[in-house]
Amino acid sequence: MSRIVYVNGEYLPEEEAKISIFDRGFLMADAVYEVASVLDGKLLDYAGHEARLARSLGELEIPMPASPEEILEIHRQLVTRNGVEEGAVYMQVTRGAADRDFAWTADMTPSLVLFTQAKAIVASPMAQRGSKVISLDDLRWHRRDIKTTQLLYASMAKMQAKAAGADDAWLVEDGKITEGTSNNAWIVTKDGVLVTRQLSNDLLAGITRASLMRYAAEAQISVEERAFTVEEAKGAAEAFVTSASAFVMPVVEIDGVKLGAGSPGPVATRLREIYVEESRRTAI
Ligand code: PLP
Repeated sequence: MSRIVYVNGEYLPEEEAKISIFDRGFLMADAVYEVASVLDGKLLDYAGHEARLARSLGELEIPMPASPEEILEIHRQLVTRNGVEEGAVYMQVTRGAADRDFAWTADMTPSLVLFTQAKAIVASPMAQRGSKVISLDDLRWHRRDIKTTQLLYASMAKMQAKAAGADDAWLVEDGKITEGTSNNAWIVTKDGVLVTRQLSNDLLAGITRASLMRYAAEAQISVEERAFTVEEAKGAAEAFVTSASAFVMPVVEIDGVKLGAGSPGPVATRLREIYVEESRRTAI
């Protein structure tokens, strides 16, 4: 079924949407993006995604393509026009089109593209069985704090995980896990403490990660922000990942080593419930 998408000021059927072949998003991945999930036709954690978009654009010196109010309105229009009850809104901003050159000029007009994806995210089969991950070297660039569309290594790592019979990869640098291919990595120690890597240029500051840290504090669950090794993760009581599209997803196996009983643990399961409840409550 054809969706209505948004491209540079216009709402169009997806077949009619066009972007220049000279757009630097296409030629050089000179672009940033955000994905906000939708439940009950409302946007989750929207303020966080809005703030991170502004930060990513600022780091790359790409101007904001529209006001925050206009961008929120486009999200809402697309959710309504496409009748999305559950799913996601994808938003991408590129530096815009110019004759191909590594250097850019400051007068470029950014491109703004948004589209929706309707899909079940709460009732996820993977959340029932848990995700299996393999560890792989983190060969991405060193500005992973900027949410760019340079996702080739993440895609390759995901394909390598699938070829190995797993679902996803956890990326490792200097012996410590940075994050998953498209999510933040967490472990639960035998004492019930949540551990996730501290923020830096080495990983993306996940919006779901930030929300879950708040919810954990409210539930009196301790969180340690520090890096951890693959060995520590394999010996943990539980593990999980967080992202806008997976919420809290239990991880049950790392490099073929089962965690606990090899099924989603009680802490990850409870945190998933809390995340869904709180997100629904605060959705806009
Ligand atoms: N880390 C990476 C590399 C990601 O691509 C993502 C999401 O796409 C995340 C972490 C999680 O971020 P968020 O919770 O904002 O979706």
